[in-house]
Amino acid sequence: MICVAIANQKGGVGKTTTAINIATAMAAAGWKTLLLDLDPQGNASTGLGLPSSMRTHTSYDLLVEGASVDDCTFPTSIPNLDVLPATVDLSGAELELVGEEDRAERLRGRLAGHRGHDICFIDCPPSLGLLTLNALTAADTLLVPLQCEFFALEGLSQLLQTVERVQGRFNADLGIIGIVLTMFDRRNRLTDQVADDVRECLGKLVFDAVIPRNVRLSEAPSHGLPALVYDHSCAGSRAYMALARELIGRLPQQRKAA
Ligand code: ADP
Ligand code: MG
Repeated sequence: MICVAIANQKGGVGKTTTAINIATAMAAAGWKTLLLDLDPQGNASTGLGLPSSMRTHTSYDLLVEGASVDDCTFPTSIPNLDVLPATVDLSGAELELVGEEDRAERLRGRLAGHRGHDICFIDCPPSLGLLTLNALTAADTLLVPLQCEFFALEGLSQLLQTVERVQGRFNADLGIIGIVLTMFDRRNRLTDQVADDVRECLGKLVFDAVIPRNVRLSEAPSHGLPALVYDHSCAGSRAYMALARELIGRLPQQRKAA
């Protein structure tokens, strides 16, 4: 199983929206896909139609209680797409793990040997704390949503420093599969300028696909559906499909189960 962490310590940059829609696009392309919700806000779980009352086994149980991935995995209404949900309990996990020797490697330990999915996306919380550290330690590669706004690059350097620390200590093989520009607004000169700067600075790391600011993307979660299902032809859905095609092109193909 390939494991892709979706992280950026800033809130509201499009991590969860990206996680939900890229996971849906991969599932539609025939990959058995797991979305692992590692944010105590549980927005990815909600956005995939799993209400809190049904989250009887969660990423908290996985990290803290020793539950297995299978124990905590729920099907969604989308073929090939399962979710491992989060609830607010997860906010306690950082404190509960802090004294444990394997605190950064819990998630990797749980995912090791899991064979039920071809690919797992981890939706990270908006911080660089122990939960995100677990995600980066468990992941093969990192996908970074970057909102086209003035301070975008500043936050990125902090994230890249964390990646280097994780590579040095816990996960030498951690890669960065790419950076995706989100909430792009063609009518806003500043977004255009930021997008140009980011491309100049980071070159090929930046995906060609750019996610536009699109109201359908923000409406879909309240229906418990990915935008790709809620309105598959809206500009946001089309952008996420293009992103998925690029992502597949960058993934090591041989790791997809037959
Ligand atoms: P994060 O997970 O990084 O906190 P979200 O994906 O939850 O960010 O997005 C933050 C808010 O912005 C949500 O209300 C979401 O619906 C909305 N949103 C995300 N991406 C877009 C987009 N491309 N266009 C319009 N709204 C968006
Ligand atoms: Mg989120």
